Amino acid sequence: MGKKKKKPVEHLETLAVHAGRDVDPATGAVAPPIHLSTTYQRDADGGYQRGFNYGRDDNPNRRSLETCIAKLEGGESAACFGSGTGAALSVFNAVGTDGHIVAGRDAYHGILRTLESLVERWGTAITLVDTSNIDAVSDAIQGNTRLIWVETPSNPTLKISNIAKIAELAHTRSAFLICDNTFATPVLQKPRSLGADFVMHSTTKYMGGHSDVTGGAIVCEKENEFFERVVDFQKKGGAVPSPFDCWLILRSVATLPYRMRAQSDNALLVAHYLVAHDAVDKVFYPGLPGNDGFRLATKQMSGYGAVVSFCVKGEREEAMAVAARTRVFIRATSLGGVESLIEHRKSIEGEYSRTPESLLRLSVGLEHGDDLIDDLQQALKSV
Ligand SMILES: *Cc1c(COP(=O)(O)O)cnc(C)c1O
Repeated sequence: MGKKKKKPVEHLETLAVHAGRDVDPATGAVAPPIHLSTTYQRDADGGYQRGFNYGRDDNPNRRSLETCIAKLEGGESAACFGSGTGAALSVFNAVGTDGHIVAGRDAYHGILRTLESLVERWGTAITLVDTSNIDAVSDAIQGNTRLIWVETPSNPTLKISNIAKIAELAHTRSAFLICDNTFATPVLQKPRSLGADFVMHSTTKYMGGHSDVTGGAIVCEKENEFFERVVDFQKKGGAVPSPFDCWLILRSVATLPYRMRAQSDNALLVAHYLVAHDAVDKVFYPGLPGNDGFRLATKQMSGYGAVVSFCVKGEREEAMAVAARTRVFIRATSLGGVESLIEHRKSIEGEYSRTPESLLRLSVGLEHGDDLIDDLQQALKSV
């Protein structure tokens, strides 16, 4: 630490490979070792000159990952968690029981359930709005609103919210804006440069990228009091990821820019294929010129992401039949891995879901685009 000469490295691809990493000074190992130790030796004078004392408080693998994610998102610091939901909860907790949160009604269903089942029970007030409608956001802000939670593109209908405008609105009303950037990643969208105070990730998705690790992160613009509460929740609340999980995520982040662009390109092909298909009623993808969010997405993103939702003509039965027939797309929830997934979204969202029965969500992976389209073509013959 600190010995490496400062290089003017700013490109995302280079940061993804180098940020937060150093060659191991003890052995010369290029791949970072996994530090499993839960406790660290004190110096002779009782201090901790080397910077670590106990595994819950800090860990070299976690610190590397936090440094890397903060750099990728253009923030001062990051705090990593055992899941995206744990990361989100740390932020909701920081709002306090006298505060109020405005959140997107179209946010990831698990976040909405967390707000309802935990945060509201603590006493924190919540208003859900369509954050793609700036007037609705403005109307929802109250005197005690501390936080606006925006997920863009949203889930599962890929609505686009105006990050710069909502940031301006939040700041004139003394609230913070946090953007759930899980779907876009810093490769396609930079919420910090658009004015967001915090950025959230479920690193389970594209950052992890291989469907084999759960994690979450909060990035801050600067280390203020609110972020200190986030870190308190992480360390004093014990919501920490394991060293191996951090190692896996950091390893995967190295290829994030290339995976993300390739998957986003594949998704654009798939979306264009679906929109022209007779058995498809509607396609939700911000990269389609006919989509409500197209113009804004083109302005605030550098690619449209790799999640595509569509409604088949018919109801639940027809949608299930399509999902039953795919051979390349695997029937499973989640997103962001190298393999393509197909999911009947309402089945996982449960009784509160507002998602249509005929909707299928695709997480488009790294396979060849032609094979994905061939697969959908044969599966859609069932409709
Ligand atoms: C998956 C997801 C989450 C929750 O993350 P976990 O790691 O599953 O806890 C939050 N937001 C979005 C957009 C997600 O896709």
